[in-house]
Amino acid sequence: MEIVIQLTNMPIAGKSHLPVSRAAGAWVEFRGVVRGEENGQPISALEYEVYPKMAEREIRRLLEALAVKYPCLAARVIHRTGIIPVGETAIYVGVAGRHRAEALALVAEFMDRLKQDVPIWKRRALPADPAGDDVSRVIPPVTKPGHAHGAFHKSLDEAMAEIDACCRPLPPVRASLEASFGRVLREIVYASEDLPAHDLSSRDGYAILAEDSSESFRIVDTIHAGDWKPRSLQPGEAVRLATGAALPCGSLRVVMQENTERSGDSVRILKGDASLNVRKRGEDMQAGQLLVQLGERLGAGKLALLATAGCAQPLVSPRLRVAHFTTGDELVSPERTPESGQIRDSNSILIRGLLRRWPGDVFQAHLPEEFARAKAEIENHKSEIDQADLVLVSGGASVGDKDFTRQLLESLGFEVVFSQVNLRPGKPLIFAVNGSRVAFGLPGNPLSHFVCFHFGVAAAMARLSGQAVPTFLRGRLAARLFDAACPRETLWPARLDWNGGSPRLHPLAWASSGDVTCLADANALIRLPANCAPLDAEAELDFLPTANMLGG
Ligand code: AMP
Ligand code: MG
Repeated sequence: MEIVIQLTNMPIAGKSHLPVSRAAGAWVEFRGVVRGEENGQPISALEYEVYPKMAEREIRRLLEALAVKYPCLAARVIHRTGIIPVGETAIYVGVAGRHRAEALALVAEFMDRLKQDVPIWKRRALPADPAGDDVSRVIPPVTKPGHAHGAFHKSLDEAMAEIDACCRPLPPVRASLEASFGRVLREIVYASEDLPAHDLSSRDGYAILAEDSSESFRIVDTIHAGDWKPRSLQPGEAVRLATGAALPCGSLRVVMQENTERSGDSVRILKGDASLNVRKRGEDMQAGQLLVQLGERLGAGKLALLATAGCAQPLVSPRLRVAHFTTGDELVSPERTPESGQIRDSNSILIRGLLRRWPGDVFQAHLPEEFARAKAEIENHKSEIDQADLVLVSGGASVGDKDFTRQLLESLGFEVVFSQVNLRPGKPLIFAVNGSRVAFGLPGNPLSHFVCFHFGVAAAMARLSGQAVPTFLRGRLAARLFDAACPRETLWPARLDWNGGSPRLHPLAWASSGDVTCLADANALIRLPANCAPLDAEAELDFLPTANMLGG
């Protein structure tokens, strides 16, 4: 019996996968589709993890044993691996036999024995979120925060490691290409066919035999882009071709129209072309080639590639749902003139702008500066909070009389992982988790906000979307950085450029974490060690790119 086994990360197409040319008496096809419930519980997907080589060997062994009992002609098994959403095919089995009964019996026994005889699968059901919308969402297990030594006070590295450990990728969803813009690809996409699918002309011109040295040619056919007209050519014959037209046979070259002179049905070559002017089959991509890797952020170029490969509904990260609250009775909206003691709220638009890089829904509201009243106000926004993957509170994160963010997050069921980072600016940063949901209490000063957003919130958003947390890169100072030594590490706002091909960092001036002016130019944060002496230009340092550099 001819056996073909395929393990794949890609969706299994709905068409028949049996070699139809094997004109057997009967062929039987079976598809195992992921159902929406398991053990009475609603699920959103199944996840299969396998060792491909071993799985293939065991499936083959089982099929060979069954072929002795039910002599059939051919069998093909396609098993999907990775996350398979409800409604999609997890396994395809096709069997061709001389008799229907044998083929049916082979498929039935194969499916019965697959689980018990091929114990190499790690299979996990991903539960559906009852609060989910049309899209199936899953609450993945989250590691309990490891309160190392009960400390809520962390170094920058420890804080970043805790965020990494506590945030799990949200369950992926299938979305249209347009809706996938800016989201993270959660499957590997391979080319399903060669591209171009045939040898194509890259010019408007005339195809002739590659070795034909005639001067004048008889035009025997015309082929436009989209036509399919296979035929052979003789010496002295030419076919008129448009750019993108499929060549009618192999071993041809195309002479550009500009280098020819046509009269009626014949064409003369005035000048030879240096190039064949042919786009070879598979020169752009070959069937099976990896096109876009899992974990990549989908920008316009990658989406164009997915469109070309026919991946019209990629598996991507879900839209992130964020609830952001400002606190502080001193705040007025930007259109108002502040009275004495008041300031305009700049954090709302800062956060909204920074969140724009992740497709999602942002809910924003203001809370009064008193715990009981803030709690009452929060009650009005319960559904937005309950649905949020990420809750952010601006201000009130410190230990002042009116600083109630920690208490507020705890009252919402969040468990605080840390409440201080040994960092300047951005020391009073709270990070808390509640199941798969995470929350940050950000210090209200705008520069602290910016800093905490980038090493904390952005890292959490990346993880929830299925990416690795952003890491520090190495770059050189473009100018001397003079700073009074600070016992904490510093993330110093900087302007990054790539003049000369390597990252150069221009430190920006700032006096306090309440500064806003430096935010207008900052696109990087330089990491300065604690108690750092002044640094000369060209000193090499770690930096974290911000702004538009986080991919996409
Ligand atoms: P807090 O973290 O609440 O102690 O606030 C620290 C500083 O940040 C105070 O000077 C606040 O006025 C300021 N601040 C808090 N929230 C905002 C905001 N939304 N926009 C601008 N400044 C703010
Ligand atoms: Mg405040």
